[in-house]
Order: sequence, then C-alpha cells, then structure tokens
Amino acid sequence: MTERVTDRDLPALWTHEPHTHLAFRPGDQVSRIDTNSTPGFRGNKSDAPTLQTERNLRLASLQEMLYARSKSGDDNRSVLLILQGMDTAGKGGIVKHVVGAANPQGVRYTSFGKPTEEERAHHYLWRIRNALPPGGHIGVFDRSHYEDVLVVRVHNLVPPDVWGARYDEINAFERELVDGGTTLVKVAMFVSLAEQKARLAERLERPDKYWKYNPADIDERLLWPKYQEAYQVMLEKTSTDYAPWHIVPCDKKWYSRLAITELLIEALKGLNMSWPPPDFDVKTEKKRLAEA
Ligand code: AMP
Ligand code: MG
Repeated sequence: MTERVTDRDLPALWTHEPHTHLAFRPGDQVSRIDTNSTPGFRGNKSDAPTLQTERNLRLASLQEMLYARSKSGDDNRSVLLILQGMDTAGKGGIVKHVVGAANPQGVRYTSFGKPTEEERAHHYLWRIRNALPPGGHIGVFDRSHYEDVLVVRVHNLVPPDVWGARYDEINAFERELVDGGTTLVKVAMFVSLAEQKARLAERLERPDKYWKYNPADIDERLLWPKYQEAYQVMLEKTSTDYAPWHIVPCDKKWYSRLAITELLIEALKGLNMSWPPPDFDVKTEKKRLAEA
C-alpha cells in the first residue's frame, strides 16, 4: 500500500496548510502576535474534539510508518518537535494530547529544566545531543537549546559575548541535524499576559495543579518584555530555510493543539514515505503458514 500525499489530506476546516500561516517571516513582531487568534482555521471550538481525534490517528499512522521503515532498515530519518514557550503556554498539553496519541515506542520525549551540575560541566549542547531521537523516532523537546539564548540571555547567566555567539552555533548545529536526516519542527508558543495570569491562578486554586506551579514563574512573568525581546531575536536569528520557526497563538488550547498536530503531520508527509516492502516472499510464507 502506498501512502497518498494529496491536498485532500488537509481537513476542510483548514483554509491553508497551517505552516503557511504560522511560519515566522522577517518583520514579524512578537509584541504584535494576536495570541487569541486561530490563523488558517475556519472552524471553532466545538469542531475541535472530533477533528483532534481524527488527526491524532493520522499522526499515529504516519509515525508508525516512519518507525516501520527504520525497523526494516529502509530509512533512518527522524522528526524533532521543539517546543518553546513561557510557563503555561501549553507545552505539557501538546505532549499529552498530541504526541500522546502516538505509539510511545517511537517517541523520544525530553524536558529540559535548569541544567544539573553534570550538565553544567559540559557544553550546553551536550545534553541536547544526548536526547536526539534515534532514526525512526519522533523526538519531542519540552524546552530545548533555545533556553540558552532565552532564560540565559534574560538573566545574563553567562556574559553577552557567550550567549551572543550561540545563535550561529545553534544554526550550525541544526544544519548538521537536518543533513543527518532529522526534520525539525520548531514551535514558539505564545499566550497573552492575561491568559497566563488566569492559568497561573488556576494552578493556585486546584490541588491537582499545584505541582505545575512554581513561585519563580511570577518572577519570569515580570520579565515578559525582556523575554519578548529575547524571543524576537531568537526568531530573527535562528529561523532558517532548513529549520524555520513557527509562531503558534496559544490562548485557545484547542487551536494550538490542532495547529501543532498539523505541523507534525505536514513534516511527516514531507518525508514521502511508503510502507516498507517485505523482506520475505509473501506467497511462500502464506503457504508455509497454511501448512504449519
Ligand atoms: P518547567 O518547564 O516549568 O519545568 O521549568 C523549567 C525551568 O528550567 C524554566 O524556568 C527554564 O527557564 C529553566 N531552564 C531550562 N533550560 C535552562 C538553561 N539552559 N539554563 C537555565 N535555566 C533553564
Ligand atoms: Mg513551569
């Protein structure tokens, strides 16, 4: 069975393939993102659950194909989803509701927090390299090497000439990944300050959400203008033709999940895969089985 890659694969509720709306373009301003918007989507919230379920199945099937191809030795490519966003942007929800629909066997998930002592003893890309997806897998980075030009820049955790050199270094690193067969899906997730406040408030209201709350989140929130600037420079300096950034408005969780699902599906479709052919003779095996 050959995989069909057709326009009809895009659900009718999307006016265009999401990347055409969401790709960062020179001149785009982080400060002007309408975080409550739903670019490219003509449906509404009530359409989301059914469509999400349907597209999760599609994603899971493409993931299985990628995995099958690596198992049969036909293909060693991988996809890496990089999620960046301020606290409460919904990174965890993407992992749970989008990536969670795929077979865990073919997923390599890593979240990057404050570097451990061991990590600090190495170059900042060391822990990133260790977490890269093997061939046939979808890697998911919940935060990433971009923290090393975001939180590190905002707090001057290293001198400016050190973080300043990282943009070029990251571009070279990603070029290497792409040349090695990894498709990067880079997603910057944005919520408004008001929505962030509401989500943090919810964490303080609900005992089942306390675990997500960190008092330091408020300190970072107060630095939002500095973060906006850091995100702006990051997008400008590290959105490349081989590894472009996407900007996803995240005040509506149902939209951000649908959009990121489509970005992943687009990336997988771009691999132009088909199911691996058998490395045995099907007819012979059927006969052997019938007689066994
Ligand atoms: P969370 O994603 O809520 O678990 O928070 C992880 C925290 O680790 C965030 O505040 C990040 O900014 C922080 N973090 C991640 N990477 C780095 C890094 N390279 N240097 C400093 N802090 C980091
Ligand atoms: Mg947090």
